[in-house]
Amino acid sequence: MKRKLINIVANTNFETRKVRQDLEDKLIKRDYKISKTFDHEAELTISIGGDGAFLKAIHNNRFPRMPIVGINTGTLGFFQEISPEEIDEFLDLYENRDYYEEQSYMLRADVYTKNRKFTLHAINEVILKGKDSKIIQMAVEIDENHLQNFAGDGIMVSTPIGSTAYNFSLGGAIVYSTLESLQMTPIAPLNSRAYRSLKSPIIVPGQTKISLKPTSRYRNGSLFVVDGSEKEFWDLLRVDITMSNKYIRRLVFKKDFYWHNLKDKFL
Ligand code: NAP
Repeated sequence: MKRKLINIVANTNFETRKVRQDLEDKLIKRDYKISKTFDHEAELTISIGGDGAFLKAIHNNRFPRMPIVGINTGTLGFFQEISPEEIDEFLDLYENRDYYEEQSYMLRADVYTKNRKFTLHAINEVILKGKDSKIIQMAVEIDENHLQNFAGDGIMVSTPIGSTAYNFSLGGAIVYSTLESLQMTPIAPLNSRAYRSLKSPIIVPGQTKISLKPTSRYRNGSLFVVDGSEKEFWDLLRVDITMSNKYIRRLVFKKDFYWHNLKDKFL
């Protein structure tokens, strides 16, 4: 690891550009080097923006291994611990190593089509849904045990750090960010004489495999949404969703930040 080398990943909003300039000036004064392009050997990545910027910083740079910390200039900024006014304090704490590290696991989705296998990684969630606003029907298996034949808009599987995102809007539970678990949340499940689908989210241990198998009619009528990006696969047979061995290393500077943040951002 190259000491004193920092990656800055930022969106291009007016506010973000101002904060970026301020941060760069302060880092240079403290003798840090700012990487021109993303450097996997840097000691820290600082993302400036909202949660969207944080998600992009990780996806676009192939899930880097160094710790990451966020400065919030976004609308919500649940991941972004530092506010622009706190940059000096943050740099002091960082230099004094006055922080702790939290590891949050991502999701891995192994997608099997008729001819190929693809692997996807998600920070917040993976959704398998019907294409063109249609319903989808699929078998749901937990560790190869058949649980249900689902019909509805789709099924989401989220990580603990994703539990406060789309999952929360769907009525899913908030799961503490470092717990090793997956949450499966139904999206508009059908419940009628014709269909029976679980209405409630289920939280399972991190070692669990959740398999979604669309019925033959939906093999070409489904859509994946991974952290907000759509992906389509032809001749989809099944997807196995597990906890990934990739994780995010978030630096936390304030004790009890999680609870203050939750109250501040959601209540
Ligand atoms: P986006 O506009 O980038 O994000 C939608 C909102 O979700 C933003 O306010 C964003 O915060 C917030 N967010 C993202 N990750 C979060 C997290 N882990 N905890 C709390 N809030 C979080 O939307 P996108 O690019 O389509 O997708 C990015 C993520 O947004 C997805 O992974 C999904 O979880 C979420 N999303 C939510 C809904 C919903 O709740 N109905 C719908 C679509 C997508 P910032 O404002 O700070 O960026």
